[in-house]
Amino acid sequence: MATLADPATQFTRMPHPAPTAAEVRAAVLADPGFGKAFSDHMVTIDWEEGKGWHNPAIGPRGPLSLDPAAAVLHYAQEIFEGLKAYRLGDGSMALFRPQANAARFNASAERLAMPALPEAMFVDAIKELVRADADWFPTVEGGSLYLRPFMIATEAFLGVRPAKSYKFIVIASPAGNYFKSGAPAVSIWVSDYTRAAPGGTGAAKCGGNYAASLVPTAEAFERGHDQVLFLDAAEHKWIEELGGMNLFFAFDDGRLITPPLNGTILPGITRDSLLALAREEGLAVSEEPYSLDAWRDDAASGKLVEAFACGTAAVVTPVGKVADRNGEFIIGSGGPGQLTGKLKARLVAIQRGEAPDPHGWVVRL
Ligand code: PMP
Repeated sequence: MATLADPATQFTRMPHPAPTAAEVRAAVLADPGFGKAFSDHMVTIDWEEGKGWHNPAIGPRGPLSLDPAAAVLHYAQEIFEGLKAYRLGDGSMALFRPQANAARFNASAERLAMPALPEAMFVDAIKELVRADADWFPTVEGGSLYLRPFMIATEAFLGVRPAKSYKFIVIASPAGNYFKSGAPAVSIWVSDYTRAAPGGTGAAKCGGNYAASLVPTAEAFERGHDQVLFLDAAEHKWIEELGGMNLFFAFDDGRLITPPLNGTILPGITRDSLLALAREEGLAVSEEPYSLDAWRDDAASGKLVEAFACGTAAVVTPVGKVADRNGEFIIGSGGPGQLTGKLKARLVAIQRGEAPDPHGWVVRL
């Protein structure tokens, strides 16, 4: 009997040409998932003390060369943003409120003792990348090109103080559906952990906040939920936000509330956009504290009719179920509600250039 070690073994060679780069890309764009695939290019801009921002460049996406003593690797001096570019019905490309991301980026920079980047430079960098990677828009329904601008401290120095050199980078990732299940309504786990405390970095989009959310998020997944909900640090009573989304609550009397921006939650751009759209819909909108106990009671009494999460990645997603150590409760029917659907449709229509844009949110390239 012939074994694999036997030189007499004759294998049949089947022709199997390697797929071309275009074929690989087409496969990715038909089913991109979220955050798994990346485009060809990246933008980089450097900052140095005394020199300011310099060396704006766009080139092939590739590994960075960093000194192992670079401050970002030790003290996590890093901030980032997330926004999407859309391919509109007429074939043109557009961004949604990129100036708002630029402003939030600079607010994060200030909290992390990093240099501000002129807003025009932030937006131009993104436009440049989208133009270079125009072939990377997903072909799947609801797809977009997700953009990830970020800044890292590059100075090789182990003292704990703000670095004297930084790199701003933008990469792009074709994106499909954020939730693996494409869930019509998500189930959330109320964490015992705390995401942010008063005076901390909760309102900044810095990597460290997300590192701290990994264990609570893993716990939510292990228990079979889609997302983690954080309560306030002081009383563990007030609803703050999900791991990567803000929350809204809709009542049977036409009220819509969302937790206020008190420094411990991220000021979401989707949140801000929905506040404006909901006001235009005639809802009584307010930014006010809401407790988990009130949420449970209002869901039971039927006063609370819908709850939804919102953010760039998942847009608007209904919350169907909430669970903590004491049990769980269902929101409304447990499925997508009418108001949630309506607000989502309005927002998506504006983002996709299919509805009037009275606020000038859509920036065409
Ligand atoms: N909260 C957190 C913690 C987030 O990471 C995000 C995503 N950036 C949001 C809320 C939603 O913000 P946006 O609508 O700007 O995406």
